[in-house]
Formats: sequence, C-alpha cells, structure tokens
Amino acid sequence: MNLVHTPALILRTIPFQETSVIVRLFTKEQGKVAVIAKGGRRLKSPFRGYLEPLNYVDVIYYTKPTREIQLLSKIESIEFFFRNDRGIEQLAYASAIVECIDKSIRDQHKDDAIFQLTVNSLRFIDENPDLSRETFFTFLFNLTDSLGYKMNLDECSICGKPLTRAGYDVSSGSLICPECRNFSNNVISIEPEAMKFLKAIAFGGSGNQLQPLPDEKCADGLTNILISYLSFHLDYPLRLKSLDMVGNK
Ligand SMILES: [Zn+2]
Repeated sequence: MNLVHTPALILRTIPFQETSVIVRLFTKEQGKVAVIAKGGRRLKSPFRGYLEPLNYVDVIYYTKPTREIQLLSKIESIEFFFRNDRGIEQLAYASAIVECIDKSIRDQHKDDAIFQLTVNSLRFIDENPDLSRETFFTFLFNLTDSLGYKMNLDECSICGKPLTRAGYDVSSGSLICPECRNFSNNVISIEPEAMKFLKAIAFGGSGNQLQPLPDEKCADGLTNILISYLSFHLDYPLRLKSLDMVGNK
C-alpha cells in the first residue's frame, strides 16, 4: 500500500453506508481518483467541513492498484472557493466545470495542465462572478486543446478557405464556411461576436482580458457548439446537468 499526498479538487461526494462518504477527487498527482472517507459524516469526523464539491484541498490517501476506491487518511483546505454569497450563475458554471472534468477525463489520467486550468477557472469565477459564463467557455475551449483537439478557427475544414464567417458542422465536428454550409444539413450558426470571442481565447486571452459576451443568444450558441465539439471528440454525448440551473439545454 502506498501513501499519496497531493492537492485535489472535490468533484462529487456520495454518501456510503451509515456514516461514510465516497469522494471523487481530481488530484494533481494521479488525476481522477475515488477515495472513501470512513466515518466522514460523523459529527466529530476530522473530514467534516471539507467534503464538499468545488473545495480545493490537500489530501493524503492510501492507494492499492487492485482497489477501485482508495482510503482517505487526511484532508486540509488549500483554498475555499465560493464561501461568500454565491449567485446561481456563478455556482452553475463552476459546477459545470467540475462536472465536465468528472465526465470527460479518464480515471488516473494525470495531467498538470488540465489540473491547473480547472483550479484557475474556479478561482477566476470566484473572484469575477460577472464573467462566470465567459470563464466556462474559456475552460471548455482550453480543455479541448489540452485533450489534443484544438478547434481550428482559421480555415474551413472542407474547402480550406480562411474563415471570416463560420458555422459549426455537427456531423464532422468542425467549422465550415458559408459556401460549404450548403452541403451540410446539421450546422449551428456562430454569431460574429461569438467567433471573435473564440479567436480571442485561442490567441491566449483569459483572465482579465476576457470580454463579456453581448447577449444570451450568443452565449447559448457557444454552449451548444463547445459541448457538441467536446462530445464529438470524446465519442459520447456530454450532458452537463449543472447547466440546467441557468436554463441551458
Ligand atoms: Zn468551405
């Protein structure tokens, strides 16, 4: 049995038996790992108060390769996100980020870049609630990039012409130009403002350079495109229940 000591984000918690909790973690050292917090729901448990989704913690757990669920030994807080009065939007998009990690990253796939991206995105939403939605889109775009499927925003995937106006072709999982659009029957339009937004992120814009999106229509379109794009590359439909809180489908 080995001992692992690592920073981690709590993705989900599931009550187990009378007093325990199974905690799904996204760890810096070992990627996604499930641990059991024995007695974690007892009033006097040292784990109490830390076992909440979105918490950024320092954990020590015992690990055995033959076991699916590892044994939590110690937990401490690194940073408390979303402690103060949190708005619905802020919570919805932050939850969507951890839900997305839970559903799109393979277990025990260690990835420093994705770990850091996730922590930074949550911290940014915590400090800039007005840009929650924009941060979520930036997270999705950069996640697909880190997973090895960076979206090509520059040229049409069919004819190769430079893209000024583009549509997202659902069946090929790529962007196409208005002419090529005539040959496809499953295209989501991309508003010029949304395209500008994506190009700014692709160019490295995040954090304080993030520009707010102009309207709901633009944002809903981007949600559809980015989730459809990620689903296409994961090869299964990604559905983020957290977004139901803000009325996205
Ligand atoms: Zn084309």
